[in-house]
Order: sequence, then C-alpha cells, then structure tokens
Amino acid sequence: MKPLGPIPPGFAAIDGELAIAGRRVNELVAQTGNTPLFVYSGDQVRNRVAELRAAMPARLALHYAVKANPYGPLLALMDGLVDGFDVASGGELALARAAGTDPARISFAGPGKRDDELEAAIASGVTLNLESEGEADRAFAIADHLGAVPRLAVRVNPDFDLKGSGMKMGGGAKPFGVDAARVPALARRIIASGAHWQGLHIFAGSQSLDSEAIAETQAATLDLAAQLAEASGSPLPRCNLGGGFGIPYFPADTPIDLSLIGQRLEARFAALPAVLQETRFCIELGRYLVGEAGVYLTRVIDRKESHGEVFLVVDGGLHHQLAASGNFGTVVRRNYPVAIASRFGAPDSEEVSVVGCLCTPLDRLADKAGLPRAEVGDLVAVFCAGAYGASASPAQFLGHGPACEMLV
Ligand SMILES: *Cc1c(COP(=O)(O)O)cnc(C)c1O
Repeated sequence: MKPLGPIPPGFAAIDGELAIAGRRVNELVAQTGNTPLFVYSGDQVRNRVAELRAAMPARLALHYAVKANPYGPLLALMDGLVDGFDVASGGELALARAAGTDPARISFAGPGKRDDELEAAIASGVTLNLESEGEADRAFAIADHLGAVPRLAVRVNPDFDLKGSGMKMGGGAKPFGVDAARVPALARRIIASGAHWQGLHIFAGSQSLDSEAIAETQAATLDLAAQLAEASGSPLPRCNLGGGFGIPYFPADTPIDLSLIGQRLEARFAALPAVLQETRFCIELGRYLVGEAGVYLTRVIDRKESHGEVFLVVDGGLHHQLAASGNFGTVVRRNYPVAIASRFGAPDSEEVSVVGCLCTPLDRLADKAGLPRAEVGDLVAVFCAGAYGASASPAQFLGHGPACEMLV
C-alpha cells in the first residue's frame, strides 16, 4: 500500500458524500451534466487570501499569478480579492482584461514576448517585466511607434535560488530575467528614456514548503533590490519579491508557517535602507491562492483485476491532471490526495490503483492506494487540483477533450 497525500482542510462529508462549499459532489456533477469536472471553491480562495493578508505586513501587496489557473470566473473573483495580476503571455493578458482587471494593476513577465504581445501591453498601460536588454530595445521601439510612455520594470536573474523549491527560477545561467550584475545599467537606460520606471521583479523559485528558506530568500531579495537600486542611482519605486509559497501535495508534506514568514518580513520592512523607504512591495502567488481550493471529479467507468491487483478506470486522467499522474515537474512519482468522493469518509477496505482512460501506462492518478471499495459509477476526487490542472495538462491528447470547470 502506498500512502496518499494529505486532503486539504475545509472538505467535509454530507450524507457520506464529499461536499465542496457545502454542496454534495453528485449535485455539482448533475448541475454541469458531466464528468470529468473541476470544482473551485470561492470560499476557500477567499479564506486563503484573508489568512495571507492577516499574516503578512500591511505594506505588502498581493498579486495573483494567472498561469496557476486562468479560468474566467475565478479571475473575476480574484480581481476583487488581490491587488494585481501577473500574466505570462498575451493570451493571459487578454483573459485578465476580459475579467475586468484594470491594466494598471497587471504586470507581464515571461521570456519570448512577441512584438504583438509587447504592443498589447504597452498600448493598454500594463507593466512589462523585461527579461533581457533585447526585449527592452523592442519595447522602446514599439512605445515610440505608438507614441506611448511604457511602464517598464526589469526582471532580475538573482544569484541565489529558493531552497526546497520545486522549480528553480533563479541562480546561475537562466532564460529568465537579466543577470543581476547587468541590471543597474539597464535600469539607468530605462530611467533616462523617460519611461515610467516600475522597478524590479525578482522571482527565485516555486513550490517551497520550507518557511525558513522562504523568509531567507525574501531577505536576500530585499538586500539585492537595495544593492541594485543603489547601483542604478535612484530609489526603487516598486519591487516584486516573487513568491514560492508551496502547498502540501504528497504524504508527509506539511503546510508553510505563514506567521513566521510574515514576522520576518515585517522585521525587514522596519529596517529598510533609504533607497527602499518609499518602495511599494508585492509578492506574486499562484498555487498557494488557488491550488487547494480545487477538486477534480471523475467517474469510475470500469473496475477490473489484473494479476491480483484492482484497478479503477475513470473517465478522467492525465490529460486534465498531468501533475497528479507524476509527469509535471516531479522526479519520483508519489500519490496526490485522492478519495472516493461518493463514499467520502468511509473506511479504507482495499488496495487499488486509480487509472485514467488514456491508453498509456503514464495515466495513473493513484498508485496502490488504500481506499473504500468503489464500484462503477462512483466518483473519485483528486484534491489540490486548483492550480496547474486544467490549463497545464495536455487536454487534446488522445482526443478526450477538456474537462468542465465550475466555481462554487
Ligand atoms: C509560475 C510563476 C509564479 C507562480 O508560481 P506558484 O508556484 O504557482 O506560486 C509566479 N511568478 C512567476 C514569475 C512565475 O513564473
């Protein structure tokens, strides 16, 4: 038997069925008329944002990294909860605009921005986090052509990365950002050009559960920001401190300690050097805001045995939940939190593997897990499905198409 990841807090059973935001899963599935289905709980997202606000310094603004989950109704909800959106493509920019977000609250990072994406951002007054000197040159030329004053920030490739991070985005040679040593020269050029200088974006990694490491990285980020501002010869208007707040996906993972991180940052904010006195700080979080608020529901289509092992074959799979299958950024496959949603809370009674409907051995949502006995027609829940699920999985693979999504 292999352990399952921890089910996030906030999910209860009603009459033996999993309830999300107080509604039973069978009712939710009946409302959309189909499985597989992603359900996102608005209450859980609101609670998460409130917890963060309470733990972090009041001076720290909170941005949502749209790539974690760009579902329209969720973006519209987020727009009222956070201080800004960070997008990573022209497509995400269009989605953020469609959700009604003020372009002045949007910043756009990401390597390989095409000219038409730069143009859309500059024309609408979105802040560009420039990833290279070459991108800066193209942004200047496009702004000239449009007769617009662009809002420009520089994304820094710091000389450190976030320890314990699932995906390293800084330290050494990287396609992201401008090497720290070259940032002051670029910042001076931007300021001299008359553009709206928006400061620095320093993102050192993602998905860390090590609160000490997150606090240390934030401290190192503030030191680096101060040093770069000094070297650029002007106080820093804004600084995006990155994110990296992880969520527990796997057995033995534990949640981060928000109050530790908040207190450390508060102490650093109380002792800022002159170049950072007036700086507006933010963090940008994706999965921490929405990951645990989402559940993927899929129905058991077949129950079969092979060489003494039981398989539940479901109508979903890695084409919607690539990460749960272990094929998105993990080295060793471990089980996500998974439950029989239509028998939620029933005691485990057998060892089963939950496999998806794709014709590949990679398509496994739970491996040799202890679960209550399930039959054809039962619903399986995969938790922690609110981030990097629907939008980060190969929905076209094998022709099953995308899953339904709903916000409750
Ligand atoms: C992916 C990404 C994020 C969000 O990461 P999470 O782990 O979802 O919080 C934030 N900022 C940048 C620059 C990113 O690339």
